[in-house]
Amino acid sequence: MEEHHKNNMNRRDFLKIVGITAATSTAALYGCGSKEGSSEGSKALGPIPTDKMTYRSFPGLGSDKVSILGYGCMRWPTVPAPDGKGEMIDQDAVNELVDYAIAHGVNYFDTSPMYVQGWSEKSTGIALKRHPRESFYLATKLSNFHPDTWTREGSIAMYRKSFEDMQVDYIDYYLLHMIGGGGMEQFRKRYIDNGMIDFLVKEREAGRIRRLGWSFHGDIEVYDYALQMHDRGEVHWDFVQIQLNYVDWKHASGSNFKAEYLYDELAKRKIPAVIMEPLLGGRLSNVPDHIVARLKQREPERSVASWAFRYAGSPQDVLTVLSGMTYMEHLQDNIRTYSPLVPLTEEETQYLYDTADLMMEYPTIPCNDCKYCMPCPYGIDIPAILIHYNKCVNEGNVPESSQDENYRKARRAFLVGYDRSVPKLRQADHCTGCNQCSPHCPQTIDIPKELHRIDKFVEQLKQETL
Ligand code: SF4
Ligand code: SF4
Repeated sequence: MEEHHKNNMNRRDFLKIVGITAATSTAALYGCGSKEGSSEGSKALGPIPTDKMTYRSFPGLGSDKVSILGYGCMRWPTVPAPDGKGEMIDQDAVNELVDYAIAHGVNYFDTSPMYVQGWSEKSTGIALKRHPRESFYLATKLSNFHPDTWTREGSIAMYRKSFEDMQVDYIDYYLLHMIGGGGMEQFRKRYIDNGMIDFLVKEREAGRIRRLGWSFHGDIEVYDYALQMHDRGEVHWDFVQIQLNYVDWKHASGSNFKAEYLYDELAKRKIPAVIMEPLLGGRLSNVPDHIVARLKQREPERSVASWAFRYAGSPQDVLTVLSGMTYMEHLQDNIRTYSPLVPLTEEETQYLYDTADLMMEYPTIPCNDCKYCMPCPYGIDIPAILIHYNKCVNEGNVPESSQDENYRKARRAFLVGYDRSVPKLRQADHCTGCNQCSPHCPQTIDIPKELHRIDKFVEQLKQETL
């Protein structure tokens, strides 16, 4: 694990922190309580193709042919640790998922020293080591979020450790991670003042990095500045990673900027776009019942998620669409959607924008389960709480008053589901309001405020005072 990681966790801490809720919340993100997920109803569509994946290539990327489905390695499956304390990454399951993905045409794998609280690069490296190096593209990031890693030495140490952890001698796609967080000041400190951009350009010249780019969340001034650097010829960006989905196109939440602008700025310059959050952290598969009915009416056999993936892959300048697939069912469903990708028609696109307008009426919290806010020093499972709340919003189980028609059923569903999804000691009532979490949230959620609000609601349900 990166020695400068913000909490210097050891393996035991990691095992405790990942906890069973990691898998539980991922299931909830996909609108399912088990491994049955986004493939619902798709069995009628026949076997999953092995040779029909859509690939994208761009003049600036040489001979690279990248699968439109990219594997986001931020939500690997976990199992109970042998010592009975917490969970650990299920390497056998990771191997199985990676093998299946490659056998069905997926060739882009995206990780970071931050993912799965520091364990993703190792796990991804172990799984990919079992395949010929030239059969996949490996992407990782300079995730130097903590001030300790802003020095040149700290950043270079993080860069070199990625090679070691992933057991590779070159990285295909290397990103400055989440530029925009902390505005121009942090961008300068993390990448310019310490000479890291110049260093990475030289690494690209030396062949240890094949393509250089960045991912963006946050201050749009940084986005524009980084592209101006490209325009002025100070650095050539081979690709850029942005958040894009049919809600964010016009209604970006939190610190995110409208995807329409982000994408258009790249397309103008012919810079390929890597897409993250096509499902908006799972919220576009776990949608309210009437939205499910609306989408199923058009394509009864296709999953709800497949609409979001088709949307994200349709623009021509998209290189690949990342999905953090924990379960085989999700991987299979996405392979089916992209084998081959059938781009959305104008009419279908408009249908999704209308759907997005309807979804905006539901007050969910824009948590995408990235876990950057974790661990909480007081043990609160922040994402699991927020995801449970969102699930209940979508299912109509957040009553406004005890006079609501479905009050009794909703009260029970909320409280029983809460205890199942989040162990009692990790629930919102234990939040001290210290606010150590919010500064790490790319969605700029005021976490203590939301937890306080949810806790108050839980108390009202318990005391029957709503
Ligand atoms: S504000 Fe609450 S959830 Fe956030 S770090 Fe502090 S105790 Fe944990
Ligand atoms: S609260 Fe923010 S940082 Fe934490 S998991 Fe959700 S989106 Fe990520």
